[in-house]
Amino acid sequence: MNKRTPILNPLTLPNGAVLKNRLLMAPMTTCTGFYDGTVTSELVDYYRSRAGSIGTVIVECCFIDPKGPAFPGAIAIDSDNKISGLAKIASAIKSQGSKAILQIYHGGRMVEPELIGGRTPVAPSAIAAPRAGATTPQALTAEEVDVMITKFGDAVNRAIKAGFDGVEIHGANTYLIQQFYSPNSNQRDDKWGGSRDNRARFPLAVLEITHKMARRFADPTFIIGYRFSPEELEVPGIRFDDTLYLLEKLAEQGLDYVHFSVGSLLRPSIVDTQDPTPLIEKYRAQCSPLLGKIPVIGVGGVVNKQDAELALEKGYDLVAVGKACIAYPNWADRIIHNEQLELYIDSTQREALHIPEPLWRFSLVDAMIRDVSTSGRKYKAGVYQEKVEAEALKLKINVTLDTDRITDIQMVPDDTLDVDFTTTFTSLRNRMLVANSPHVDAITGATTQSEALKKAVSRAMSTSNKAWVIDEGGNPLAPQQFDVVVIGSGGAGLAAAIEAHDRGAHVVVIEKMPTIGGNTIKASVGMNAAETRFQQIKGIVDSKELFYEETLRGGKNKNNPELLHQFVERAPAAIDWLANHDIVLEDITITGGMSIDRTHRPADRSAVGGFLISGLVKNINQRDIEVLLETAVEEILLENGVVSGVRVVDEYNDTRILNAKSVIVATGGFSANREMVVKYCPQLDGFVTTNHKGATGSGIKMLEKIGAGTVDMGEIQIHPTVEQTTSYLISEAIRGGGAILVSQAGQRFYNEMETRDKVSAEIIALPEKSAWIVFDEQVRKNNKAADEYIAKGFVLSAPTPGELAVKLNMNPLALEATLNRYNSFVAQQEDADFGRKTALRHPLNQGPFFAIRIAPGVHHTMGGVTINTDTAVLDEHQQVIPGAWAAGEVVGGIHGANRIGGNAVADIIIFGLLAGENAAARAKQHV
Ligand code: ADP
Repeated sequence: MNKRTPILNPLTLPNGAVLKNRLLMAPMTTCTGFYDGTVTSELVDYYRSRAGSIGTVIVECCFIDPKGPAFPGAIAIDSDNKISGLAKIASAIKSQGSKAILQIYHGGRMVEPELIGGRTPVAPSAIAAPRAGATTPQALTAEEVDVMITKFGDAVNRAIKAGFDGVEIHGANTYLIQQFYSPNSNQRDDKWGGSRDNRARFPLAVLEITHKMARRFADPTFIIGYRFSPEELEVPGIRFDDTLYLLEKLAEQGLDYVHFSVGSLLRPSIVDTQDPTPLIEKYRAQCSPLLGKIPVIGVGGVVNKQDAELALEKGYDLVAVGKACIAYPNWADRIIHNEQLELYIDSTQREALHIPEPLWRFSLVDAMIRDVSTSGRKYKAGVYQEKVEAEALKLKINVTLDTDRITDIQMVPDDTLDVDFTTTFTSLRNRMLVANSPHVDAITGATTQSEALKKAVSRAMSTSNKAWVIDEGGNPLAPQQFDVVVIGSGGAGLAAAIEAHDRGAHVVVIEKMPTIGGNTIKASVGMNAAETRFQQIKGIVDSKELFYEETLRGGKNKNNPELLHQFVERAPAAIDWLANHDIVLEDITITGGMSIDRTHRPADRSAVGGFLISGLVKNINQRDIEVLLETAVEEILLENGVVSGVRVVDEYNDTRILNAKSVIVATGGFSANREMVVKYCPQLDGFVTTNHKGATGSGIKMLEKIGAGTVDMGEIQIHPTVEQTTSYLISEAIRGGGAILVSQAGQRFYNEMETRDKVSAEIIALPEKSAWIVFDEQVRKNNKAADEYIAKGFVLSAPTPGELAVKLNMNPLALEATLNRYNSFVAQQEDADFGRKTALRHPLNQGPFFAIRIAPGVHHTMGGVTINTDTAVLDEHQQVIPGAWAAGEVVGGIHGANRIGGNAVADIIIFGLLAGENAAARAKQHV
């Protein structure tokens, strides 16, 4: 017989309440409340199905005041009308035999204004949280602090009325209670701030009122716990000894448990990184006998029984379990029965596992989902060997496939392999197994090797799929039936495919290159849109009309007005669509030709292309949408004037027909087709291009063959700032961030923020036909791309402008004079030389100084096929070619004679979505 595991021993808390075992479900954000914080029935279900064998369930944090929600979908306990919903959760948990504890909190300065009707959040002091874009909160007045304490009391009273067995005071995660205790966020000079004792007053007052309420309204076994984050990184900030000090004081007032808020059970200090001692060990060594009697909950990384047992061994009394409880509602039962669990959730199991939809989409859960839906391709089960070849790397892999999924990927042993690659391999293997797809993000710093490995897995899957078809008595080269064929896996193609799929169509994406992402993956600056919610949050006042006008002006009035209207109208919804698909572009900058910050980009200000493609591909994988790589569409098929499908040729030169009622052409532009570029624009002969090799214009040719009209084919944009040895584009975000352009003579020569065509023309007009983009440390700090350029070796730098000029072979006095003059323009916000009106961000005066040599390169082809506002392809007589849709750079007319930076990404998403929607509708209509 097994010895009884200590995790099943009951525990009597200081107040006499008995927990039947040492296991708790950790409080986890589910984002499943109604807009006003009311409980939903999905949530009740979620908790009911997780209660039972587990001793205690700590229900996710509940905000105590209307200004308190720290995230969308948070649940509330801010008024009496919330009691009945919360009571359902409490009773659902208790009916299964577990104790129900409710966590209560106020987000303080961590609250986004958009969550509280645009109002300003409150905090101990008017100091914004140390994160990009954080709002500066309003400091609570002394009276408001008193009121806040009573609100915590009211919340406790409501929790009691709702039938909870206890409350957990959320003093962690940098929310309001922690903000009061932190010397960083609390810089008050009244009795609530200043000394450590003063800062401890607020948490102590909250505990005091909690006790008061419990004494008055609950029975003596009402549990009161306190959760804390042991340290803060900020200087000044809470250190571990401060935490112990506070906990000792709280313990004097009486507590039934304390709850460590850390990512992993045995985490050492995050401040003193030299000290590897787990904090729990320090805690046990340093706490007083009084504090030592209070049970401690540990959390972080517990999946299996041995993890929980280890937690008890290391000094915790109780173990809270997070993700494993989401993935396995009956987690406690399973580990009691010694099941070994892995943190995966099968993609088809959401409902069976009682996981609410918003939680399913939450990153914490999303990362655990393993796609096993069976709508996709089938495989002949077995092991398939493939070669991986990338530069010096040559190896073989064995890919094990089940009928509907990848079950393993192993390297065929080879002593010559370096450790470096083994690490890349292991990480990439895990990504592919979790996604059940070869289409995953490459490992940073090992892109070429990653792509080769992904390709090898993809090949194994194709081979196995063909074998399955043969086994089933079929012919792998026989025509296949889809609703919608999407040609091209750039942003337009992927957005179209996702949307068409979600509207019920059976979709396939065809990509001629060995990798996904097209030219979109190289997009740098961001996505333009006016009147978006992210602009609103930042207080940016913009209008669709202005966006329209500026795009039209930039395009020299050549833009197609109907398409442009459609474009500006749909832009904010496209930003929302992306956000709803976990592609959040919340930071905002500006590009040349625009007068307002409306270029949306990722929060960390990284290049938009990689971020966008990575997010879209995740959505493609989640839906099991088939993507055929190294497969080119060679012909769009027409039957009686109506599109009937496509003819594709794969990497083995095998030809197949894919029948479909809708074909979406999202093949991008033709910048990389020198013959075509020179045909339409002879003066561009000899120019490098910023585009990927696949930008050959094949979609335009195929569509022309079935009668499509074209427009603006001679409008080809050159991008002014291209590093010439690598054809690498230096993002407009650098100029938008405050950089200037300087000639070899050390002088500015034009308004850097003018449209691309004009800036390019001025560079070409310089005697050296190239220029330097010059910036300082402040610009670098705000643009992740700058570090990328430094890493790529494009950037020359020096501590002072004079020293930089020497490196550039430039007259130092000239460069210094140029910078001084420009800095004086920044001070006056007026460029007396060239009339630059935007991005006069800050003086360029903080060393080190940087420069990159640039010249124009062929960047974007504005011309392309003609479409109507539904994205239906039009023939030369403006008549629809039924079944043919086009979106993205393959289309002409939207940008007129010059595309504004940030408008290409907007174009591909807006029109990609529209094409997906309409193509799916057509395919369904004709069934
Ligand atoms: P957009 O920005 O309009 O989405 P991209 O250049 O990002 O365009 O993507 C277009 C994709 O289409 C590229 O990956 C390119 O390789 C692919 N492509 C172009 N022509 C074909 C074709 N004939 N068959 C399959 N894929 C194609």
